[in-house]
Amino acid sequence: MSSFNGKCHCGNTEWTAELNQEEQGHILCHCDTCKLLSGSPYTLNQIIPQTALKITKGRDLGKYTYKGDSGNGVHCYYCKTCTTHVYHKQDVMPDNIVLRTILLHDGGLGAGLKPAAEIYGKARLGWEKEVAQTFETTPPS
Ligand SMILES: [Zn+2]
Ligand SMILES: [Zn+2]
Repeated sequence: MSSFNGKCHCGNTEWTAELNQEEQGHILCHCDTCKLLSGSPYTLNQIIPQTALKITKGRDLGKYTYKGDSGNGVHCYYCKTCTTHVYHKQDVMPDNIVLRTILLHDGGLGAGLKPAAEIYGKARLGWEKEVAQTFETTPPS
């Protein structure tokens, strides 16, 4: 278990995440929702227990809710000042959150973590190279 620190663009929001060994990598998500929410070809994430995330500064996060592929709610939490998307929570995984691992800044953005897997590979843009094991949607559970 190691502790990682994150902060938003304006600095009003800071957090700490505890990641165990197998969580210390980026899961690249190529889905279209991630493209729309981030303005980027993919996002970098990791699923961790809710209890492993502590917001240490600026607890009054904004919340945006949409319906995921399964029809269940997905709740995005972001800094109200600069809109940095800190994490999101899916109703289908009530005890877990999806952390934006690129925002961990220990030793530089992304905290030196490597790509661990790619999901929603079916929506990968044609010019993007594969950098880790890719799943068409999500890994079989
Ligand atoms: Zn901010
Ligand atoms: Zn996505």
